[in-house]
Amino acid sequence: MTSAAGPDRSVDRSRWLGVLGGGQLGRMFVHAAQVQGYSVAVLEPDPGSPAGAAGDAHLQAGYLDAAALAALAARCAAVTTEFENVPADALRTLALSVPVSPPAAAVEVCQHRAREKQCFAAAGVPCAPHAVLASVGDLDSPQIGALLPGLLKTASLGYDGKGQAAVATAAELAQAWTALGGVPCVLEKRLPLRHEISVIVARGLDGLTVHLPVQQNLHRDGVLAVTQVPAPDVDAALAAQAVALAERLARALDYVGVLCVEFFILADGTLVANEMAPRPHNSGHYSIDACDVSQFDLQVRTLAGLPLVAPRLHSAAVMLNLLGDLWWPAATAETAGLQPEPREPDWAQVLALPGVRLHLYGKTEARRGRKMGHLTVTAAQPEAARAVALQAAGCLGLPPF
Ligand code: ADP
Ligand code: MG
Repeated sequence: MTSAAGPDRSVDRSRWLGVLGGGQLGRMFVHAAQVQGYSVAVLEPDPGSPAGAAGDAHLQAGYLDAAALAALAARCAAVTTEFENVPADALRTLALSVPVSPPAAAVEVCQHRAREKQCFAAAGVPCAPHAVLASVGDLDSPQIGALLPGLLKTASLGYDGKGQAAVATAAELAQAWTALGGVPCVLEKRLPLRHEISVIVARGLDGLTVHLPVQQNLHRDGVLAVTQVPAPDVDAALAAQAVALAERLARALDYVGVLCVEFFILADGTLVANEMAPRPHNSGHYSIDACDVSQFDLQVRTLAGLPLVAPRLHSAAVMLNLLGDLWWPAATAETAGLQPEPREPDWAQVLALPGVRLHLYGKTEARRGRKMGHLTVTAAQPEAARAVALQAAGCLGLPPF
């Protein structure tokens, strides 16, 4: 079929889409794909995963399992990933027989902080002053002094502030490097952050790129806690600059799919790229409820070759992350010293507030720091969304923001 938009090369609804990974991002991708008429196969070794439970088929096997990859490629018209640490070789193997996005090479860049920083530099995108510490000898390199106080981050496998240590002196650096296992790391200068924002772009096979509105993010203990859109402290010029930088990175990576770029706004108002995620991002979850096209819809569209249109924010939104900590009540005088039992928060209380939507990921075990769900508050005006979100936070025992 041809239309004003050109020939339709999109994936037929009789075909399946595939996703590597069974986490909550995969679950929300599955939901978006199913709404759009696709069946989805999930490759995930864990028998009880959020996406595995939602998918039309769950291939329970390792990501590098040759038979499972062959089965996925045979069943699906296109395959994507929902987590960045998927082995790039799994993507490469699949790409021999089925379209895969994002491309393995782009995922590999995002998996490794040193490669990521090289990519920023090559694309002319400013990032934190840093040094790559590949081996113990690098701890003595003369440039280290200028990077302290800094943050030591493992080059790979870090997330939610894990695999990181704040270091103020050369002695602390040596200690932290050993504590992190002596693996390759990046030492970054600690920057004076005024705000944190992120930009989510989606790029099609034809290079056409669209983006969500800029998100403003608050982290607690290295984990995303609150996202606000529109970003309350970002003017239009700075937002446009962030979007342009994210689009430049997508182009530099020859990217197809959804890419998130996290930025710092420094005390002097300048913009610095922090890191990239080759997939939808926690800071984009609000788009399910506040935009006419969500980040997961965009992932489906880029994967299935459907048209990309710029998402429109139809409501102001505040997203609150719901970590497993909420399942563990604070000790009272009566319970002090006792082993507390986890219990589900009182959702009815927050759902009684206007504009609240609760998303739970179907994880049975609540652990501290584990992302169990999120809630999005939407309203016609940002002030109203914020006021209700503060009430919801109060009900749940979350700190104000
Ligand atoms: P993760 O992969 O765990 O998200 P990040 O590199 O994004 O790791 O770091 C987590 C958080 O730590 C950031 O969102 C920011 O709040 C803080 N942070 C990271 N790097 C720096 C830095 N160079 N200067 C100041 N704060 C930082
Ligand atoms: Mg981060």
